[in-house]
Amino acid sequence: MPAPKKVLIIDDDADYRHVMGEILQMEGWEVLEADEGEAGLEAVRQQRPEVVLCDLLMPRSNGFLVCRNIRSDFTLRHTKIIVTSGRDYDSDRLAASEAGADEYLTKPIKPYDLLAKIARLCDEAKAGSPPARAMNAAGAEPARLKFWGVRGSIPSPGPATVRYGGNTACVSFRAMGEIIILDAGTGLRPFGRELMVEFKDQPLNLTLLLSHTHWDHIQGLPFFSPIYLPHCRMRILGFEGARRGLVNVLTGQMESPYFPVPFGELPGNIEVEELKDLEFLVGAVRVRAWFANHPGICVGYRLFTDDGSLAYFPDNETHCRYDPDGKVRATRKDASLEYARAQEEKMLEFIRGADVLVLDAQYDRTEHEHHIGWGHGCVDDVVAVAMKAGVKKLFLFHHDPDHDDAKIDSMLAHARKLVAEQKSSLVVEAATEGVVVELARAGH
Ligand SMILES: [Zn+2]
Ligand SMILES: [Zn+2]
Repeated sequence: MPAPKKVLIIDDDADYRHVMGEILQMEGWEVLEADEGEAGLEAVRQQRPEVVLCDLLMPRSNGFLVCRNIRSDFTLRHTKIIVTSGRDYDSDRLAASEAGADEYLTKPIKPYDLLAKIARLCDEAKAGSPPARAMNAAGAEPARLKFWGVRGSIPSPGPATVRYGGNTACVSFRAMGEIIILDAGTGLRPFGRELMVEFKDQPLNLTLLLSHTHWDHIQGLPFFSPIYLPHCRMRILGFEGARRGLVNVLTGQMESPYFPVPFGELPGNIEVEELKDLEFLVGAVRVRAWFANHPGICVGYRLFTDDGSLAYFPDNETHCRYDPDGKVRATRKDASLEYARAQEEKMLEFIRGADVLVLDAQYDRTEHEHHIGWGHGCVDDVVAVAMKAGVKKLFLFHHDPDHDDAKIDSMLAHARKLVAEQKSSLVVEAATEGVVVELARAGH
C-alpha cells in the first residue's frame, strides 16, 4: 500500500488545527501540525508534505514569509500551498499569490471547499508529471555513444576547428533502454534538437551524469530544449560542488542576470540528486564513479552494459608522467613517486579493460610542462595509461580551445606512433563531434 500523503497545517489556533486535522484524516491524509511559521517551515523541510495549509497571520513568521521561503527552495517546488485567512482583502489575495501560494481560502472554511481545492491541486500535480519511467527504446538496441561536444574550457567555433568541433563536453550514451548524457557542455544543445525530432511529443526519460560543475560541463543545460517540455523527465546526478551544493550551482547559472528563465519555472520534470555512493544503477546500466585529479570535486564514470563498458574521464591529469625511455615520474613535483603510483593504480583499476575510454588529453608534452597541476592530461601519459589498463579504444578528449584541427591531427598521429612503438593493440582516435561508436565494435 502506498504511504499516505502528508498535509501540514500551520496555524496558531489549536481548535482550528484539530477540526481541520480530523476532516483530512478521514480523507486518508497523514496530518502534521505546527503552531507558528518558523516551526512550520522546519516541518516542511523535514517532512516534505504534499500540501501546506498556512494561516496568514501568526506569531513569528507570517504566512507570506512561509510561502516565500518554500518557493525559494527549488527542492520544494512541487509543494502545494493553500493560504487561509480570517480576512478577505483583494490585496491579501494578490500578495499571497505573489508570494507563491496556490490557493487562498477565507475562514470559516467549509470542509467541502477545502477538500475540493486540495483534490484539484493534487490532480493538477499529477497531470503535470510525465508517466512513470518508460523505456525510451527497445532494450535490444546496441549500446552506443555519440560525441556532441569534445572541447575543453570554452567553445571554440570557426573554420580552424570545424572538423573536430568547437562545442564543450557532452556525450550521449544509449544502452539497455536508457538515454544517459555525460556532461552538459554546449554540445548538449544540438543533442536536444535531435531528441526533439526523434521523440516529438512522446515521453522522454533522460539521465544526466555530471562530472563536475565547471562551465564547460554545465553551460549547455539552459539551452537544452527538452527541459522546457512537460513530457520530459530528467534526473541530473552529480557529486556536490566544492562550496554551494549541486542544486544551487545549477540553479545559480539560470538566475537573473545570467539567464531569463529561472530553473524553478521549467515545466519539465527535473530532479537534481547529489550522489553519495560511487556505485549505482541507471535502469539496468551499472554505473561506477571515481575521483579525477582535477581541481574541486570532479569524477569520471564507468558504465557497464551487456555490450561492454564505457569509461568517461573528461577532465583529469595523470598522477604519473611516462617518458619515452620508460622512465616514470610523479606529475606533482612535491609528491613522491610511490604516492603518485598508488593514486594512479586506483585510476587504472577503474578504467581497466574498458571497451571505450574517453580521456582528457588536452596538452602535448611541451604544453604540459607549462601546465603541470592544472588538472588536464598530456597525450603521451594518456596513451601510456590506456595501454597499461588494457583499454580497447581510446578517444583523446577535452581538446584545448587553442588547438586547431591540424594540431589535433598531429597529436593523434603522435599518439598512434606511441602505440605502434609498444606494439599495442590499442586503437586511438581524437574525439570528434557527431561521431557514433558502438561499444561492441570498439576494437575495430
Ligand atoms: Zn573541462
Ligand atoms: Zn574542469
